Amino acid sequence: MQKDQLLTRRRALLAGAAALGAAGAAGLLIEGTGDEEPAHGAAAAGPQARQALTPSAYRLQPLAGYGSPRAEPGRLKVRREPILRVSGRGRTMVLTYDDGPDPHYTPHILDTLAAHDVRAMFFVCGEMAVEHKELLARMADEGHVVGNHTWTHPLLTQLGRAEIRDEMERTSDVIEDAYGERPQWFRAPYGAWNRAAFQLGAEMGMEPMAWTVDSTDWMTPGTSTIVDRVESGAGPGVVVLDHDAGGDRSQSVRAIREYLPYLIDSGYHLTVPPRRRT
Ligand code: ZN
Repeated sequence: MQKDQLLTRRRALLAGAAALGAAGAAGLLIEGTGDEEPAHGAAAAGPQARQALTPSAYRLQPLAGYGSPRAEPGRLKVRREPILRVSGRGRTMVLTYDDGPDPHYTPHILDTLAAHDVRAMFFVCGEMAVEHKELLARMADEGHVVGNHTWTHPLLTQLGRAEIRDEMERTSDVIEDAYGERPQWFRAPYGAWNRAAFQLGAEMGMEPMAWTVDSTDWMTPGTSTIVDRVESGAGPGVVVLDHDAGGDRSQSVRAIREYLPYLIDSGYHLTVPPRRRT
């Protein structure tokens, strides 16, 4: 198949997966901190306001100061804190994997997710993604959500605005190329956020997502410790932080084989946020 045919196919699959995800999530909402800046017009207000506006109505809202039609960033608030958890009906949880994709570990994690028919979020680094585009294509095909975790995983708080923009923009470009869609989520390396990151993320159409429970797999504390931290941290709305790259992640690979069936047996609905319309 030609590359553009592949992308078209992936987009179709993504659209299908997004519809399934939205139906499966049944009201999965993202909890803000209540500390957002005023929205840009009614179109950027909460879900209720958005519901009240038909698509043709929101197109009539001025998107002052924004030129890119691609991401419709005027619909995103500039947050002052990242999103820490999600809310949905029942026992909804989100699993996230950072720093990849890594050909040694990511395929095993994808295999385990597939075996249990579960979707997760992968916050990828551009420098990894550009070397392993086939793994992003697989994530698209299997309905996972890919987020932006910068190009080189720097401490954003030590960078200037132009450097932060470059780190984020290049990563969104390679994600669009390999995954078929620009990312709608980003996560600051080390969870170190600053104002520029929030502003640039909103400009690029991305919401900042942190996490509720850190599995501490990045410290390679042993598989059973990772499993225990995820299982004991489980709860409605919890976002779990794991890693599929950035070191020896064989413990993370083994841990998900244990905690995923446990969470499912405990009645948790592991899901991803539905794709926002852009
Ligand atoms: Zn990271």
